Amino acid sequence: MKRDVLSMDLPELTAAVKEMGQPAYRAGQIFSWLHKSGAADFDEMTNLPKTLRETLHDNFVIFGCAIEKKLISEYDETVKYLFRLHDSEFIESVLMKYKYGWSVCVSSQVGCRMGCRFCASTMNGVVRNLAASEILSQVYAIQRDNGIRVSHIVMMGMGEPFDNFDNAMRFLELITDENGQNLSMRHISLSTCGVVPGIYKLAEKNLQLTLSVSLHAPDNALRSSMMPVNKKWPVEELIKACRDYTAATSRRISFEYALVSGVNDTPECAQKLAALLKGMLCHVNLIPVNEVDGTGMKKSAPENVKRFESYLAGKGFAVTVRRTLGSDINAACGQLRRTRINP
Ligand code: SF4
Repeated sequence: MKRDVLSMDLPELTAAVKEMGQPAYRAGQIFSWLHKSGAADFDEMTNLPKTLRETLHDNFVIFGCAIEKKLISEYDETVKYLFRLHDSEFIESVLMKYKYGWSVCVSSQVGCRMGCRFCASTMNGVVRNLAASEILSQVYAIQRDNGIRVSHIVMMGMGEPFDNFDNAMRFLELITDENGQNLSMRHISLSTCGVVPGIYKLAEKNLQLTLSVSLHAPDNALRSSMMPVNKKWPVEELIKACRDYTAATSRRISFEYALVSGVNDTPECAQKLAALLKGMLCHVNLIPVNEVDGTGMKKSAPENVKRFESYLAGKGFAVTVRRTLGSDINAACGQLRRTRINP
């Protein structure tokens, strides 16, 4: 069985290289090829002897992503990728251009079991977790394809990162490694639909990333109707975990709130939301919902978005309305894969 080399940290790689009878510095060279240069094949590692490259082929595998399909927005340079994995499963990633640089939204699982009603990723359930290497290789494949360096990452694609906690953490460790991409943890956002134990586990790690919590409703009845996860960890438990998280880390939480016409965009919802988050170190990100066929959910009208935003701003909250990127290329998570596996 070949080992997944791209998921290994430098100490693990060093131990493996020594086991092969090689000097430790070879591990540093291999790590740099994999994580700094984004090498997709051992044969690219031209400063290694040919015999060592052959040994690496025999003992390790580099899990990559093959581009199955690519859609480029005509409006804003957003690129949506459908990647094929080594076992012919599909995942999606999105490249977005902002004033501050390139950002990639990565998937953490094939499918998702969380069942959020507005989301295409969950419609066929979860197939499997992604290895850290498979989360990384989305970034590396996109960098290679575009000849760019990504500066920001959002773990907001297909899957719930806390449902794949250890691999998500290993991904963060590797993408921020100073011997590799050396990405700033402050440039990374991790999004959860509200898996409370994951919030506490992340708090223990005290990372400088931004935790995004998909809230989408201010009370249990409404939230449970949109997000089944709420039945397991209701709003009070979730908000307590968020308050505990900010107390433990001093990091501001970003609450995502997808506005659905006539469902959660009423003045009453805005009032309840303001009461719920009162006094918390947080930011509220309003998102006119991405319309997905079969969910029956429609975007809020612009005037209702404005009204919701103004109410929260008037209550002193830091609130923004997220720019919808790639609206012409189905940039909402899971839509491309869904079309591919259910033609
Ligand atoms: S929104 Fe996120 S957590 Fe919810 S079903 Fe979709 S991928 Fe899963």
